[in-house]
Amino acid sequence: MTHRLRTTVLALVTTVGVAALLVAGLRSSGEASAVPGLSFLPGPSSTPVDSAASREGDLEDRTVSVDADEPAVTRLDPALRDAVRDAVAAAADQDVEVRINSGWRSTGYQERLFAQALVKYGSQEEALHWVATPDTSSHVTGDAVDVAPTKAAYWMSQHGDRFGLCQAYANEIWHYELLTEPGGTCPDPEVR
Ligand SMILES: [Zn+2]
Repeated sequence: MTHRLRTTVLALVTTVGVAALLVAGLRSSGEASAVPGLSFLPGPSSTPVDSAASREGDLEDRTVSVDADEPAVTRLDPALRDAVRDAVAAAADQDVEVRINSGWRSTGYQERLFAQALVKYGSQEEALHWVATPDTSSHVTGDAVDVAPTKAAYWMSQHGDRFGLCQAYANEIWHYELLTEPGGTCPDPEVR
């Protein structure tokens, strides 16, 4: 390779690298997690993230609106999504913003979460306290949402039943499913 050619290739590689960083920055700028050093980029964008992770319902530490064009929310059971929409509006009337940080998940994504939990907690028994297998997860069937931030989770624990939304597990104040009729009584959260 001549010196000139090598210089050209290097310049090309650098340009592609910078472009990739800019795209990554633009994509994440629409959500809470800003990329350090790229804060000069334009503010929130409505461009949906269309990554391999997103298509599996993996929001990668982002939170999204219930109305986002993201498989994590578009693939939820429509009745659940409608109930969450109503809850989001009612919470907003009380100045509480309810965001979604997990909804529908692909089987593959749930498998990876369970594998990570096995490593983290050291045994299947412990892991099952926190993460369901793909066979049993209500996220995989589109029947569960995890809400954020914590203030939103507390709001949901107090008012979710108005919309049929109930905290399903005692140790997960963020995880809600449609477990009663609107205005009904939620079953006690399951201890697992
Ligand atoms: Zn959950």
